[in-house]
Amino acid sequence: MSALSAGRLLRTLVWPGWRSCSSTPAQNVQLSKPGNGFSFELTDEQKEFQATARKFALEEIIPVAAEYDRTGEYPVPLIKRAWELGLMNSHIPESCGGLGLGTFEACLITEELAYGCTGVQTAIEANSLGQMPVIIAGNEQQKKKYLGRMTEEPLMCAYCVTEPGAGSDVAGIRTRAERKGDEYIINGQKMWITNGGKANWYFLLARTDPDPWAPASKAFTGFIVEANSPGIQIGRKELNMGQRCSDTRGIVFEDVRVPKENVLIAEGAGFKIAMGAFDKTRPPVAAGAVGLARRALDEATRYALERKTFGKPIVEHQAVAFLLAEMAMKVELARLGYQRAAWEVDAGRRNTFYASIAKAFAGDVANQVATDAVQIFGGNGFNTEYPVEKLMRDAKIYQIYEGTAQIQRVIIAREHLGRHKA
Ligand SMILES: Cc1cc2nc3c(=O)[nH]c(=O)nc-3n(C[C@H](O)[C@H](O)[C@H](O)COP(=O)(O)OP(=O)(O)OC[C@H]3O[C@@H](n4cnc5c(N)ncnc54)[C@H](O)[C@@H]3O)c2cc1C
Repeated sequence: MSALSAGRLLRTLVWPGWRSCSSTPAQNVQLSKPGNGFSFELTDEQKEFQATARKFALEEIIPVAAEYDRTGEYPVPLIKRAWELGLMNSHIPESCGGLGLGTFEACLITEELAYGCTGVQTAIEANSLGQMPVIIAGNEQQKKKYLGRMTEEPLMCAYCVTEPGAGSDVAGIRTRAERKGDEYIINGQKMWITNGGKANWYFLLARTDPDPWAPASKAFTGFIVEANSPGIQIGRKELNMGQRCSDTRGIVFEDVRVPKENVLIAEGAGFKIAMGAFDKTRPPVAAGAVGLARRALDEATRYALERKTFGKPIVEHQAVAFLLAEMAMKVELARLGYQRAAWEVDAGRRNTFYASIAKAFAGDVANQVATDAVQIFGGNGFNTEYPVEKLMRDAKIYQIYEGTAQIQRVIIAREHLGRHKA
């Protein structure tokens, strides 16, 4: 199916009330309407998105995921196909040629993609992370130029914030941007950038206020940087523990010139933009972790029904059945976590508390459930011929990227205590 017809197909599935055409919250989201009550029922359109992503994961991602993991090759055909099916960039506003869907729909899609392979899902999700600062803070011209081109062809982008010396401590970044006439000159080094070697453009956070005492809320600026700008040196693809087909790299910026038109909002607004993006991207990251955990549960369940010890399937040993029960409990609750966080932000509410709960809980659940799946597989679980060792390796990153498990707890505690003090 061509990209155009796939886009049209998905458009016809979208109930107009779901669309949020800009960064303004989707006040007309069906679930957020006062009086609609509490419902776990998905709309027909949401079911359709979910079914499309599920079919793609089962039929096209799973058959090739182990090989991409083995080779570490970037999954270009899968990314192109996801783009054709409308499973990428779902949140790009309609005014820029996108579907303008909410975070909730993005999460439903992400859980399914992650069920297939979280390496593929991370490459796709990193695109959303790179785009999100432009969606929430870009002017119409910036949105049309940089988001619009991603609806015309399957391009990638990246979010360049982390540096070798600063990850959790974002305010510790040292990349500098200096204004010279109508341009900024950027110098510095970024690290662990997903899609770093594949991006068409970057969102980049740099310090613009040389005063070391300037508050973070004023010292940093967010830029859109064309990836082919002279002075950009892309490092080697990092060899990671898991999600190996995802492209992670260091990038050096040496006297890279960026026009002032590529500043998001204004000088000094960057920190808030970079952090604000997480409210919309952490729920999908949590959904990815849920997809992985659900896959581990399914694999372990199938195996436990087939594998026999002491004359009966291992599932009939209560210790194994209870392990599956614990895994199922965690998957279900982690899903509720991301759905709440996504629902909150789609309803236009500040969801920082829920986004961190969702991300922290689902990240831990993915690791626990994948480890338990390996346990249920016994010796086979430790071997690359079976699917669960990959899941265990892939799961770890959910406790690290987009804010570590510890940083999420710092945020949750801050938000929680803030409510009590208020
Ligand atoms: C595969 C991969 C992909 C990534 N993709 C991107 C990307 O696309 N863009 C991007 O900008 N970054 C990306 N990152 C970077 C990622 O977000 C950081 O690695 C992460 O935020 C942690 O930062 P750090 O590695 O510097 O660890 P550090 O910040 O040095 O933390 C080390 C340890 O100390 C703990 N710690 C730190 N501060 C505190 C505190 N205040 N309280 C309690 N514990 C604390 C941490 O939780 C962690 O356990 C990626 C990383 C990886 C590995």
